[in-house]
Amino acid sequence: MTRALVLGGTSDASLLAAEIAHAGLDAVYSYGGRTRLPADQPLPTRIGGFGGASGLADYILGEGITHVIDATHPFAAEMSSNAVEACSETGTQLIALERAPWARAPDDNWTEVGDVAAAAAALPEVPARVFLAIGRQHIAPFATKPQHIYTLRFVDPPEAPLPFAADVIVSRGPFMLDGELEMMRTRGIAWVVTRNSGGGGARAKIDAARMLGLPVIMISRPTLPERQRVESVAEVMQWLGHRTCLGA
Ligand code: NAP
Repeated sequence: MTRALVLGGTSDASLLAAEIAHAGLDAVYSYGGRTRLPADQPLPTRIGGFGGASGLADYILGEGITHVIDATHPFAAEMSSNAVEACSETGTQLIALERAPWARAPDDNWTEVGDVAAAAAALPEVPARVFLAIGRQHIAPFATKPQHIYTLRFVDPPEAPLPFAADVIVSRGPFMLDGELEMMRTRGIAWVVTRNSGGGGARAKIDAARMLGLPVIMISRPTLPERQRVESVAEVMQWLGHRTCLGA
């Protein structure tokens, strides 16, 4: 009997959960617990960390999980590494659902960097308006460049004081091209900093930056241990022995 664990927190994970529920498969959806009000899922849902790779291994054995689908964000490196380790330890099948990274288009003006600290270092010294499109837990290094006016966008209002004064937009998205163009124009954004998440849902800001001729500091994805990886919900369903019905 198949019992799947979906490590989620992304729009792809939600699409997958809908397909799994529609197929009537036995499955649990797991959120990391970063968002205050995560979207409801059509699957039994648990929230919060497992306690590292060993905690996840215990959970897999305790819950009789046969298949783990890592549908976390491409930058959720700790969770993804723990999944590889726990599945190897328990002999559980693992697949990663991960969109391809964005590729640079001819008109893109990107500076590609390896991490958030390098992104902060790559910003100019002269004051500028910067759209910092990264999660709140990663913004601290930008305190080293306090001369800039930063625009941040979060799903929830910040609970703790930020490490620097910033213009904060609270919105869950998805974000469309027109809205991104408007936001960047009205705020006079001159630089965009983002992580190479890939996929369609977050790409409008990259397209808007290209159209406005803005430089983008693109943070590359972390390196992860070797694992089976697919890019579509349909491929995950096939791996689970089912077909997609909802067209994800
Ligand atoms: P991370 O650094 O890799 O994870 C840190 C720890 O959080 C993990 O070791 C694990 O704790 C726990 N965790 C993460 N994801 C979990 C999940 N789905 N279920 C249960 N525990 C989880 O990850 P992160 O970058 O902080 O991201 C946290 C979550 O937010 C991820 O699930 C990710 O998919 C989601 N996210 C979504 C977006 C988006 O744009 N949709 C962007 C960023 C993050 P233990 O070690 O205790 O098990």
